[in-house]
Amino acid sequence: MPWDVLTDEQRELRDLVRQLARERIAPRAAEIDVSHEFPWDIVELFRENDIFGLFFAEEHGGLGTGALMSLIAIEEVAKVCATSALILAVQELGSLGLKLAGSDEQKERYLPRFASGEWLPAYALTESGSGSDSAAMRTTARRDGDEYVLDGTKRFITNAGLASLYTVFAKTDPDAGHSGISAFVVEADTPGFAVARLEPKMGISGSTTGELTFDSCRIHAGNRLGEEGEGFRIAMRILDRSRPGIGAQALGIAQGATDYALEYAKTRETMGKPIGQHQLIQAKLADMETECEAARGLLYRYGRMADEGVEGAELTKASAMAKLKCGDVAMAVTTEAVQILGGYGYIREYPVERFMRDAKITQIYEGTQEIQRLVIAREMLRESRAFLLAGVG
Ligand SMILES: Cc1cc2nc3c(=O)[nH]c(=O)nc-3n(C[C@H](O)[C@H](O)[C@H](O)COP(=O)(O)OP(=O)(O)OC[C@H]3O[C@@H](n4cnc5c(N)ncnc54)[C@H](O)[C@@H]3O)c2cc1C
Repeated sequence: MPWDVLTDEQRELRDLVRQLARERIAPRAAEIDVSHEFPWDIVELFRENDIFGLFFAEEHGGLGTGALMSLIAIEEVAKVCATSALILAVQELGSLGLKLAGSDEQKERYLPRFASGEWLPAYALTESGSGSDSAAMRTTARRDGDEYVLDGTKRFITNAGLASLYTVFAKTDPDAGHSGISAFVVEADTPGFAVARLEPKMGISGSTTGELTFDSCRIHAGNRLGEEGEGFRIAMRILDRSRPGIGAQALGIAQGATDYALEYAKTRETMGKPIGQHQLIQAKLADMETECEAARGLLYRYGRMADEGVEGAELTKASAMAKLKCGDVAMAVTTEAVQILGGYGYIREYPVERFMRDAKITQIYEGTQEIQRLVIAREMLRESRAFLLAGVG
């Protein structure tokens, strides 16, 4: 494998996103963090430069450049601003239900609006009592003629109040466990749907995270994605493909922190020399760089697998491993970056404390690190490796 697996086209697109990130997004990042305001100007920048198109097929108005390229775009933006990178990751998360289970008519109606960035989507699975254990959800969807009536609440939903379309999971058969869940799309102006509140957070401050309420919310039966009872499977297939986006966000944060700490270590002097000349600091830098590169290896491997059409258990495992490694690397590396900057690392004037706060969420959402480990181990336990042990005494 060559050291740089990208094609010329991918390298060109990466450089375009990198330039936008450095010149247009980086100068806004600290402000977004402090103001806690959603950066519509960054959405506009993505629209103008067709960045949302990277996440969609040509037939739906996108660029058709594939999974690896979309991960690289998220990574480049996250190097300077995790909130802005999350806008891209959720454009994918919130539209994957349509891509994977939507009818042709549903895809035609909605996907071009997401590909252009005219609309933002959201993915609503979590409830106050069901995060990791999503099958324990309480929201219901009762069939009534040509309609479904939704009742319940969803919690911690990214893009709450901003999204024009929500992919919502609800129980059509409350007694049937996993197979009683169905998936729907709900337009934001549907009567009975409301955003009850937004949460103040530790990091990714410009992103909205909110509670959704469904109070006798009537939607047409044509808003269902796939068949009744397929919702849990759809939700998991979406997460298989969206988790690496969070991995990319995590990797970008880690690399951004590493790059910043490296430059700082070249100029900050103690005991008569730049701290980068002290071996203990060198060891930190070397470990940070190596961990980022190891995480990138897993992430890009997933991207290539997805682009080659790999499906099923192999993709599930690769996706979970990429998210797990990138998230853990982001947390460890940003903590070390703060350490390298010493007291300056802890104060707001420097970006590394923001990187550290932003890194934490990548270990929690789209399946916690514990859940990723469960997924990886589950796939391992299904594999048969006995033949590898033949002859081992
Ligand atoms: C900022 C933010 C944005 C989010 N965006 C979205 C979104 O857009 N859409 C959406 O649907 N959700 C979203 N979420 C929800 C997120 O995915 C959940 O918070 C997450 O999956 C964890 O669920 P929980 O908070 O209920 O924790 P719990 O499931 O209660 O877990 C608590 C702890 O127990 C551990 N744990 C749970 N079960 C097991 C087990 N079987 N074995 C070992 N350990 C276990 C967990 O890893 C965790 O450490 C978001 C959350 C946040 C904070």
